Amino acid sequence: MSDNPLTTLASRGEDQQSATYEAGCHCGYVKFAVTLAPPLPEHQVVQCNCSACVRFGYLLVYPEAKDVVWHNNGRARCANYQFNTKQLDQMFCPKCGASLGIDLRERMTPHRYAISARAFYGLDLDELTYKKVDGREKAVPAGDHSGHCWDEEKQEMK
Ligand SMILES: [Zn+2]
Repeated sequence: MSDNPLTTLASRGEDQQSATYEAGCHCGYVKFAVTLAPPLPEHQVVQCNCSACVRFGYLLVYPEAKDVVWHNNGRARCANYQFNTKQLDQMFCPKCGASLGIDLRERMTPHRYAISARAFYGLDLDELTYKKVDGREKAVPAGDHSGHCWDEEKQEMK
C-alpha cells in the first residue's frame, strides 16, 4: 500500500490498519516515531484556527503516549512553552526551534500527545485529510491569547 520506506504498515485488532512514521525537528536533535491508526492519508489531521495552532503551524494528530516512541530521550530534550491555563507543554526543539506538538498529559486520560504532522519525515501536505476546527472560538477558555504572555515590566512570562 505504501512504498514510503519511512513507514511500516502493521495490522491491529479488527483489521484496523496502522502505520508508524518517523518524525522529528528540523535539525535532528529531537526525534521520535508515531504510530497512527488509521494511517495517513485516511487519518484526520486537525487544522485549527486558535492562536497557538496558527503561530506554531500545527497540523495535529492525537496518538496515545504509548504510540509515541521518543528516540534519545527526545521528550526531555524538548523546550516547553505554556500559556493560558499553563497546564500543557507546547513542545519545541531548543536547537532549531521547530514546533513539534503539545503534551496533553494534564488534559487527557490515557495520556496523549497532539503531534504536528509537519514533523513527519517525507510528508506530502497535499495528501492529508484535514479536519478544520474552530479552536479560537470553541476551545475553553476561548480567545486569542497570542502576544499577551510576556510581561515587559517583569521581563518574564506571565
Ligand atoms: Zn532541532
